Amino acid sequence: MAGQSKIKRYRRLVQAAVFMMMFIIPALNILEIYFIKGTFYSIDVGNAVAADPIAVFQAAMSSKSVNIYMALSVVIPILLMLFAGRVWCSWMCPYHFIVEGVSFVKRKLGMKKSFPVHTPEKKRRTETARLIILVCFIALAGVAGIPLLNLISAPGIISSQALVLVKFHYVTFELVFIIALIIAEFVFFPFFWCRLFCPTGTFLSLFKSERGMHLKRVSSSCSMCGSCKRACPMGLDPVTDGSSLLCHNCGDCIDVCPDNKKQETLRFISGRQHNFPS
Ligand code: SF4
Ligand code: SF4
Repeated sequence: MAGQSKIKRYRRLVQAAVFMMMFIIPALNILEIYFIKGTFYSIDVGNAVAADPIAVFQAAMSSKSVNIYMALSVVIPILLMLFAGRVWCSWMCPYHFIVEGVSFVKRKLGMKKSFPVHTPEKKRRTETARLIILVCFIALAGVAGIPLLNLISAPGIISSQALVLVKFHYVTFELVFIIALIIAEFVFFPFFWCRLFCPTGTFLSLFKSERGMHLKRVSSSCSMCGSCKRACPMGLDPVTDGSSLLCHNCGDCIDVCPDNKKQETLRFISGRQHNFPS
């Protein structure tokens, strides 16, 4: 469907709105408007609260207890994952938005677009490696007794820096971590942090369900041109990997699919649906 080439446009609108909210929320709080407050570690809207599930998990581990407030705070993010897939990452996370900006600048500078090349073996290795890395981070945080996962949460750090900047007009040392990541995104392939290391993204992806929104090839008219594979920032083959935990439902593959212009070929679906043979 030709209209689907608009996915990126909608995504940009949502990303820009979420990014601006990081600055608008503390500005509202300065004006003593408190119906919305917090950062991407934990945000309150009226009586509802949504917290980063890995931050809550870490707090539960260190306190060895879970209270009702903690349990309720992860309901919205987990429901979002179950029903809409990993949309937090590609539609809302400020770090993802910045890295897409880095990719854009790299393109403009004529730097080689170096998305990792897909192979099924590489995908399996990446999926396993990021889970092992997450377990190592959790174990390290447990042993060190410090909130390590908060210290390396890119969305949490960016939003808390926005808050400190608006409220107190300075930034803290944590910003160095984000700057280092951005430099690394220039040097390595884009999204290396999201693909392998981000504890928030990896933990959230554990709640991805096949019954929730995911990518599917819905027509046998696919010419197997490979355009979608080349566009995928996660190094996936969208024709076969729509259910991968690495897929963050960005929709870039749908946007570039030339066959979609003739007949709907790649699309997001919810629930199980018949798979077409290659
Ligand atoms: S993987 Fe982490 S940094 Fe990347 S988009 Fe998701 S939450 Fe943000
Ligand atoms: S498979 Fe498609 S929707 Fe999933 S991450 Fe890759 S480009 Fe985005």
